[in-house]
This record gives sequence, structure tokens and C-alpha cells, in this order.
Amino acid sequence: MSTHSRTKMLSEADGYDLLRKFNVPAPVFEIVTSPEAAIVAAVKIGYPVVMKIVSPQIIHKSDAGGVVVGIMTDEEARAAYNNIITSVKAYNPDAEINGVIIEEMASPGLELIIGGKIDPAFGRVITFGLGGTLVELLRDIGICILPCTDDEIYSLIKQIKGYALITGYRGEAPRDEEYLFQTLKNACAFFEKNENVVEFDINPFRLYEKGGCAVDARVIVQDESVSLPPHYSASKLVPIDYYKPQSVAVIGASDDKTKMGYAVFRNLLQFPGKVYPVNNKRAEIQGVKCYPTLLSVPGPVDMVVITVPAQLVPDIMEECGQKSVKMAVVITAGFKEMDENGRALENRMVEIAKSHGIRIVGPNCLGLILPPYKLDTTYVSTSPSPGELAFISQSGAIVNAVVGISLSKGSEMGYSEVVSVGNQSDLDFLDYMSYAQRDPHTKALILYIEEIKNGVAFMEMATEITKTKPIVAIKAGSSKRGQAAAASHTGSLSGSYEVYMDAFRKCGVIPVQTLPGAFKVAKILSDANHVPKGSRAVVITNAGGFAVLSNDYAEAWGIEIIDLPKEMIEEMNSFLPPFWNKNNPIDLLGDADETRFRGVFEVLCRAHDLWDMAILVNFPNKVLSPEQVARVLIDYSKKTENLLVGTLIGGDSMKPGVSLLEQNNIPVFEELEFTYRTLGHLNRTADR
Ligand code: ADP
Ligand code: MG
Repeated sequence: MSTHSRTKMLSEADGYDLLRKFNVPAPVFEIVTSPEAAIVAAVKIGYPVVMKIVSPQIIHKSDAGGVVVGIMTDEEARAAYNNIITSVKAYNPDAEINGVIIEEMASPGLELIIGGKIDPAFGRVITFGLGGTLVELLRDIGICILPCTDDEIYSLIKQIKGYALITGYRGEAPRDEEYLFQTLKNACAFFEKNENVVEFDINPFRLYEKGGCAVDARVIVQDESVSLPPHYSASKLVPIDYYKPQSVAVIGASDDKTKMGYAVFRNLLQFPGKVYPVNNKRAEIQGVKCYPTLLSVPGPVDMVVITVPAQLVPDIMEECGQKSVKMAVVITAGFKEMDENGRALENRMVEIAKSHGIRIVGPNCLGLILPPYKLDTTYVSTSPSPGELAFISQSGAIVNAVVGISLSKGSEMGYSEVVSVGNQSDLDFLDYMSYAQRDPHTKALILYIEEIKNGVAFMEMATEITKTKPIVAIKAGSSKRGQAAAASHTGSLSGSYEVYMDAFRKCGVIPVQTLPGAFKVAKILSDANHVPKGSRAVVITNAGGFAVLSNDYAEAWGIEIIDLPKEMIEEMNSFLPPFWNKNNPIDLLGDADETRFRGVFEVLCRAHDLWDMAILVNFPNKVLSPEQVARVLIDYSKKTENLLVGTLIGGDSMKPGVSLLEQNNIPVFEELEFTYRTLGHLNRTADR
């Protein structure tokens, strides 16, 4: 977004006119500058009318005493005019008053808000929710990144908590949902076509049993087109062989165990290619012949790892150029994250690298680890083992912790790529994602995201990747405090966390809240044993409510809950109580004990070619312990090749069952929507 272009708020009247061009309905109005003219206009429009202040400085008109509704007579019109002017002058003596707008009074209706804003990373987003005076209180707002499809608009409407107010709450007649859909669609078109609109909100939009009407419009424009975040450009893709050096030099390699250059060089000793320590004070480092400068290294050097102080880095980059180095991993901190000098240093380093075609990892990062190639440029205490997960993190500390955890007994995890992105002076999130996409070792990606600058390009790339490899992401900054800070006015009622969540949804990235959760899901997703051979599912539960939800979630995530064949139902009739639901999801009822579950799995396993996955959904009760549930799944997983999945809902009380299943490598979840979401991804990325 351009920062020097000037913004201004359109008057309500201009806002209405603009919206009307896009078929967003607004009241008839007139603007007047005297009480007498107010009466004439009111009579022309027809009582009752509403009068409001027209002033570019008054953003919340009611707060300034600038709104009077329900004006019925000439007398009231005169009084309202005078009261509005007096109140507004008292409220803000400097406010420029351009008159009073007289509007036809719209009949009461359900007050909603329709808004739009520009997200710096993801571009235009539309917001929708409950409006009027409730908006700040309830914060019942949904968000969708533009462009959006009809289906996305429908779900935007349906996902608000107040949706029941639209469909008809407590005997009230239903509101015109179709009209609302059309209006939202029109508002999207208005926002996308008016390239100088930076923000708008219609608060309220009143929805009726038939039709609806905007009764306020705040439109903020700037004097030039809004510049949107750039699209992904494949042309800057780093060739894959840049990541596969034959030779690596460590600038600042050390024998001093307290120095970064010590651990970095030690970790590189396992690298099967050539490794050169560079240090002008030593003849040998950790038993390897040392060189005083990069240029004195005899053979070619493909990659350097730099650990020396920041002010030395630009000159070293120049030497890298002379040596035809392809990639420089700059671990050193003290660049743009520190101060203006650091920023200048970083810019110089990048410029020099660019002029030689050198690509940079970092600076201010832990570095890059490619375990399948035994390449570890970091100073982590133990290198992670090779495997199928790519972990890309915006926090070096978290990489360190994760690598540590993944080596501890019981939670062994293997990696194809581990990287802390640092300042992203050159290579950024997208580059590392693109590596994971092209890397044959990688089966799933885990992202730890604080902030993505090029959100549009991120979505384009993630959409491509998730077609074949699942992506699980943690977005830091979900706290209410952080969001409150972002929500200073109604236009940004939905903070950027929701924008990320919508972006993830749009491109098929699975959001998770915790690191252990991320690894768990990624592990399930990357394990070939967990790929169902098709999308046909049977659900077995002891809770009718979960059966209903299962249908909703399954549909949303592309899992097909099959009809059970008659013979199967008859077989189950022989041992289930007569009032079982005879349907899929199979509801074994709240008093279902182990024998009921086992009976059903017996039948299912005999007819295993009719289905691809069985989902056991269980909540705690007295007749069945979580361990018993786990045992059922473990036993029957040995009798079928089909995918068996557990969902044990009930928090801590279910933990014993959850860990038992985890130990036996059976996917287990503690939340139902997550089960279907993950299965949906497994199903989607299966290359059948
Ligand atoms: P504010 O700047 O305070 O948001 P609004 O223009 O939204 O001012 O007016 C405040 C409230 O007055 C609205 O939320 C709505 O309930 C009511 N109102 C405003 N204009 C009309 C109208 N033309 N017809 C009926 N009610 C209106
Ligand atoms: Mg308003």
C-alpha cells in the first residue's frame, strides 16, 4: 500500500451514490444547510425522516450527537437540525460542518455490517457480521479474502454466530438471505472495481423479510489506485542445485567451544562433501586444515556459512562473488533487526550478493538443515535425523526447541528440511516452501509463521503445494490482546489473525494451535500407512450428536459417509439393541460397551472392501474406558488394511486412550472437526 497517497472519507451521500451504482440499496436523501431547507426536504421525502450531520471529521456520527431518527413533523425537523449542529460543535469545535443529510427512515430490520479493507499482505478482504450497536460488543464478524466465490459468500453468511437471526429466531419470520447474498456479492464487486477505495463499511445494513437497505455508508478513498501485494513469480525461483553444494566453507570456524563458529563447523563435519574452515588465526580447526581467507581455499566453494560479525559481512560477500559461491548462509545477527546501521549493512550485503548472483539464507538466523544430505549449517547441539517433514520457521528459538524435542525418546521425528528464515533479506518463506515442494524427500510441510509479507504469493504457492503435499501451519499472535490492538475501529474489527485463517482455508493449509499439535498432524499426514485408499467412511460412535456433526464435517472436507448395505445392517441387528439407528454414522448409543463396538468392527472387517476408513468417535462414559476404546482400534487395525482412526473427545480424561493409540501409530484426534479436516487432506493428497 502506498503510504504517501492521501486518503479521505467520502460523505455519506457520496458513499450511497457509489454503492447504488453496484446495486447496493440506500435510502433517498437530500443535503441541506438550514432548518428551513430541512423542513422542505423532509416534506418532499415524506415523514418520518432521519437527520444526520455531514462532516468529514465526524466518523461516528451518533457519538457526536449527530443523528436524530424518527422525525415526524416540521417542528421536530427544525429542532433536530438545530440540535445536531449544536451537539456536533460542542463535540468537536474544529469539525467542518457541510450541512445535514435528511434521509427517508428505513423500517426496522436486522442490523448487519458489511465492510471491506486492504490487508497489507493479502490484499482486499470483505467483512460481514452482526451490526448496529452490537458490533463492538459481540464482535460476531467473519472475513473473506477477495476474490471470493459464491460458496464462500454463503459460508461467510452462515458462519456468524447470529446466523439464526437471519433464518428466523424464536418464531420470527426468516430474513431475505438470498438478497443478503446478492448484496454481499455486489459489495465485493464495488470494492474490487473501485481501485481507490481503501476501506468501507456499511453499518448498519438492514435486512428484511424481503430485501434490505444500507442506512449508513463510510467509504474511504485515496487519490490513486490502491497498490496490492504482488503475485507469485516463478522467475525468482532458486535452482534446486543451489541447495546441494559439493563444498562448504565456514567463515569464522572456530576451536573455541563458546563461539558459534565452533558448533557450526562441528555440525558440518558430517557433510560428505568438502568442508573448509576459514579463520586467519589458525592453521587447523577441529582437526581440519584451515584457510586464512575464502580466496585462499584451493578448490571451488559452492556454499559459505558466515558467523563473523556483521560489519565484516559485505567484504566477505565480495570475496564470495570472486569465488563464484552460489549460496551464503548468514547466521550473524546485527542487521536490520537491530538498527539503521544494521539495515544499511544488510542492504549493502544484499546488493553485493545480487551483483554476483549469490543467494542468501538469513541473516540473523539459525541456518539451514537438509538432513537427507547430511548438510547442517546451524549450531544446534545435535543434528536432526533425516525424514519426510519440512519445517520452516520464522523463529530460530523454536527450531532449536523442536529439533531438541524431536530427538528425545518417544517422539523421534525425521526431517527433510529444517530452516529458520531469519531476516529473509533474499530467500524467503516461499523459497523454502518451493524447495520442499520440489524435494522428493518431503512428504509434508510445517510452517511456523509470525508474519508473511507477500500473502498473495504465499496463497498461490500453498494452493499448488497442497495438491500433493499437506501443509500444517501455526500462526503466532492469536491472542485477544494482539487482536484488540489491531482493532481500533469497526473497519478492522476482524484482526489479521482471521485473515490468515481465511488464507489458510482458501489454500488448503491446516491451521494448528500448538507445536506438538502441528507435529502430530504432520506426522499422521506424512505417513504412507495413513493414506486411505478412497474416501468412503464408516463412523461408529456412542453419541448421537457427534453423528450429526460427522455428516456436516465429512461433507465439508470431502469424506463420503456411505450407506450401509442391507445385509450389513441385518448382521448388526443380531447383536445390537433393537433401537440402534440402523444407519451410518452408526450410533451405538450412550450405554455402548466394548462388546457392541467389537461386534460392529467384526462385521466391518469382514466386508472391508466396501469402505476405506472407519472413524471411531467416542466420549467418556462409565461403561467404556478410553483404554478399552483404544484396544478395540488396535486389535482391529491388525485385521484390516483399511484406515482406522480414533476421535476421543473429553480432554484429559481421554488421555490414556489417546497415548495408547499414538504408541500404536493409529491416528487419533481430540476434536471432531479436526479429524475430518485431516482425513480430507489425507484423501486429497493421496496420489491414486
Ligand atoms: P454512525 O455514524 O453513528 O454509525 P449511522 O448513520 O449509522 O451513524 O446512524 C446511527 C443509527 O441510526 C443506525 O445504526 C441506525 O440504527 C439508525 N439510522 C441511521 N440512518 C437511518 C435511516 N435512514 N433509517 C432508519 N434508521 C437509521
Ligand atoms: Mg453506522
